[in-house]
Amino acid sequence: MNPIRTPCVLCLSGHDPTGGAGLTADTEAIGALGGHALGVITANTVQDTSDVRRVAAVPPILIAAQIEALAADCRIDAIKIGLLGDAAQVDPILDCIRRLRVPVVLDPVLRAGGGAHLVRSELLLALKERLLPQVTVLTPNAAEARLLGGGEDGAALLATGLAHLLVTRGDEPGGNVVNTWYQAGRAPRDFEWPRLAQRFHGAGCTLAAAIAALLAAGKPVAEALEQAQAYTHRALSRAYPVGGGRLIPGRR
Ligand code: PLP
Repeated sequence: MNPIRTPCVLCLSGHDPTGGAGLTADTEAIGALGGHALGVITANTVQDTSDVRRVAAVPPILIAAQIEALAADCRIDAIKIGLLGDAAQVDPILDCIRRLRVPVVLDPVLRAGGGAHLVRSELLLALKERLLPQVTVLTPNAAEARLLGGGEDGAALLATGLAHLLVTRGDEPGGNVVNTWYQAGRAPRDFEWPRLAQRFHGAGCTLAAAIAALLAAGKPVAEALEQAQAYTHRALSRAYPVGGGRLIPGRR
């Protein structure tokens, strides 16, 4: 038996049948970084590599039972939250966060890269008012940060009580991609990456899962943010087509 324990990340994520985003993305990224993903599906989706057509929420009681079974059996070192199906799922997720007391990475999946709106106003409110105060690292793209009410300096989002905010700008027009890390009481820090020409499906899931894997392995936040971005950039530079839309990150 291998005496070295593999860091485990509890992923609360949607299922994307293309394999580009959602739990598949999490499992691949976390595995590539030496961790293990424990996967609880929050929503099933109908989508292709261009856009999402439908989101079907999993009942909160099933999510609660799956978390319960895993928490009773496995040591969980970090939690990664992606797409949520509806506001009723926030209760079992909050119970889980309060009970486990491990780093929480939240990728607020509000709109798909293809443009589809993925959450209703009730869920957006529950995310903002109830989940954000419990989050260690929030990883919105710039459009999601705006939808959550975050201004350009990150102050409004940090005021919710979350610890670290990484705003990504791969989806914004411009030259190099500049992602910014905000935390209360410290000057923001920019990370600059060469812009890749293609469009990708699942970049945000890859980044958030990578951060969670590195935090689960005990890395400090600064290191986890830097290394997860480097890993994601490498995965995007190796992306491949599986359909007629956006490319799938080469995460392995
Ligand atoms: N489907 C699921 C299950 C997701 O979690 C996400 C994003 O996190 C998407 C679709 C949209 O991914 P993208 O915006 O990269 O196309």
